[in-house]
Amino acid sequence: NGGGQDAKNLRVKLVLLGDSGVGKSCIVLRFVRGQFDPTSKVTVGASFLSQTIALQDSTTVKFEIWDTAGQERYAALAPLYYRGAAVAVVVYDITSPESFSKAQYWVKELQKHGSPEIVLALVGNKADLHEKREVAVQDGIDYAEKNGMFFIETSAKTADNINELFEEIAKRLPRPSA
Ligand code: GDP
Ligand code: MG
Repeated sequence: NGGGQDAKNLRVKLVLLGDSGVGKSCIVLRFVRGQFDPTSKVTVGASFLSQTIALQDSTTVKFEIWDTAGQERYAALAPLYYRGAAVAVVVYDITSPESFSKAQYWVKELQKHGSPEIVLALVGNKADLHEKREVAVQDGIDYAEKNGMFFIETSAKTADNINELFEEIAKRLPRPSA
């Protein structure tokens, strides 16, 4: 199967897609470094980070995380970015219906052009801003269910559900046969 994997130690490419400003970079930094930088106005940090997690069955999963440096604005570049990805995390901001529409665009794009076995996750981020919520939880649930995706709401700010997001993805990865 190549890629330096065996049945116990998986290594997977993970990409994040979604409107600029929904919190993709903050989700990655929270997961990898346990930090949140409220002063960052735009994309912060590196375009490539990795983090390994251990599952209860003693499998380890190394996520090689590709974060865009704003290329999400250029739809034509996206296929270069998600090529070969085992996981795509499509993020919207629960205070922005526009970002939810854009997330649906990315899901369709991935269904058309992504690898057939890709694991798709739909993430409603900024769940801490519940007073400004404009996308109902149920809308996220329904859309994800129709499209066979895993759904979760997160907050990179409070760390709510960030580890859970990556753990659930890890559990859903197809396992190479030993
Ligand atoms: P990206 O363009 O999708 O990578 O978005 P960023 O990660 O750069 O975040 C955009 C802005 O949203 C920044 O000002 C962050 O501080 C803010 N932000 C990101 N995640 C959260 C969150 O969970 N809650 C709140 N309240 N703000 C967030
Ligand atoms: Mg970013």
